[in-house]
Amino acid sequence: MALRIDGKMISAQIKDELKEKVAKLKEEGKTVTLAVIQVGNDPASTVYVGNKKKACAYIGIRSLAYELPEETKEEELLELIASLNKREDVHGILVQLPLPGHIREDQVIRAIDPKKDVDGFHPQSVGALSIGEKGFVSCTPAGIIQLLKRSGIAIEGKECVVVGRSNIVGKPMAMLLLRENGTVTVCHSRTRNLKEVCRRADILVAAIGKPKFFDHEYIKEGAVVIDVGIHRNENNKLCGDVDYDDVYPHVSAITPVPGGVGPMTIAMLMYNCVQAAEM
Ligand code: NDP
Repeated sequence: MALRIDGKMISAQIKDELKEKVAKLKEEGKTVTLAVIQVGNDPASTVYVGNKKKACAYIGIRSLAYELPEETKEEELLELIASLNKREDVHGILVQLPLPGHIREDQVIRAIDPKKDVDGFHPQSVGALSIGEKGFVSCTPAGIIQLLKRSGIAIEGKECVVVGRSNIVGKPMAMLLLRENGTVTVCHSRTRNLKEVCRRADILVAAIGKPKFFDHEYIKEGAVVIDVGIHRNENNKLCGDVDYDDVYPHVSAITPVPGGVGPMTIAMLMYNCVQAAEM
C-alpha cells in the first residue's frame, strides 16, 4: 500500500512545535507579531487571510490586521509597509495577493524589509535561496520539503521532476530540491515529451494548475508524487493536478488533495514568522 502523506498531521506537528517556541519567546519578553494586509475584499483572499489569523491565534502569534479598501492607492500601501518596516514590535509583514490591478505587486513586494519578508517573495530572499544563503523561503515549496523529510523520504541523489516554473512554487521548489542534493528537472508548458520526462521521476512535483492532468501514464512505478494543485471539480469537491485514484496503485507515496500540501503552506508561514522574531 502506498503511503498517503498526511499534510494535516505534519502541519499540526509543526504548529505545536512553534507554539512552544512562541511561548518561550514570550517568557523572554518577545511577542511574535505578524502584520497581515489585505486590499479589497476578494472572497478567496478573505478566506486565506482568515485561515492565517486563525493559525496565528492557535500558535500564540499576535496578528495585526490591516483591511484596506479596494481603491487604496499604491503610495498609501507603500507608506503603511514603510511604517511597519520601522516598527520593532512587528516581525513579519504579509501582503495578501493578488492586489487590485492599479497596484504594482512587484513594487509592493520589494517595499517589504527582507528581514520581515515571511512570504519569501522579495528578490533578496529569492536570490539568497539560489546562492545558498540564509533567507525566507516561499512557504508552499518549503512545506513540501518538510512533508518529504518528516515522511522519511530521502531526496539526495533522486531524480526530481518539478512541473511548473512559477516564482512562488515551481522555481523555489527546484532550488530547494537541488539544495537537498536531488537531481532536478523543471518542466513547463513548452516542455516536449512531458510524459517521458515525468516517468523518469523518483519524486514528481505537479504544480501546473490543471485539474487531474497527471494520470498513471506520467508516473514511474514506485515514484513519490506531490500534488500542489487545488481545484473544485464538477461536483464542487476539491481535487489536485493529479488524478489521485488512477495514480495511487503505481506510487510509493502521494499527497492527497485536500489534506496534503495545502495545510503546509500556512504552517510554514508561521514558521517563517517565528524565525523572523528569533533573528
Ligand atoms: P502558475 O499558473 O503561476 O504556473 C503554472 C505553471 O505550470 C507554469 O510554469 C506553466 O508553464 C506550467 N504549465 C501550465 N500548463 C502546463 C502543461 N500543460 N504542461 C506543463 N506545464 C504546464 O501556477 P502556480 O505555480 O501559482 O500554482 C500551480 C497550482 O498550485 C495551482 O493549482 C494553484 O492553485 C496551486 N497552489 C497551491 C498552493 C497550496 O498551498 N497548496 C499554493 C500555491 C499554488 P509556463 O511557465 O510555460 O506558462
